[in-house]
Amino acid sequence: MVGQNVINQFRISENFMLDEFQCTCCQRVMLHNKFLYKLQDLRTKIEKPIIITSGYRCSSYNEVVGGVKGSYHLYGMAADVYVPGLPLEELLRAAEQVGFPGIGFYPNNHFLHLDVRPVSPARWQG
Ligand SMILES: [Zn+2]
Ligand SMILES: [Zn+2]
Repeated sequence: MVGQNVINQFRISENFMLDEFQCTCCQRVMLHNKFLYKLQDLRTKIEKPIIITSGYRCSSYNEVVGGVKGSYHLYGMAADVYVPGLPLEELLRAAEQVGFPGIGFYPNNHFLHLDVRPVSPARWQG
């Protein structure tokens, strides 16, 4: 029998494993291909490991963390990230150059929210 700890532990792009995107509470995961490819583009550009603090969220976990209703985290189209040793402003500039349509800048909590929303691009500061 396959142990629960090996679920999602396989490479899905040059620098990412599927389990990096899974829900913190239940290990379920959905991931949009566009999101993965853009995040990999960002990773290749900055040449430093990206830490994902929240990728896919099931609806109950989204409520626990106070996520907005209809959050792109629920659809595998978003992640909250930071890069150790890289100023958040630099990560923000790189994310803009890569062309993420949704970017939230959270300097106080030191992370960026990135998403591939199919609607008009949005930028905000939290
Ligand atoms: Zn969950
Ligand atoms: Zn987010």
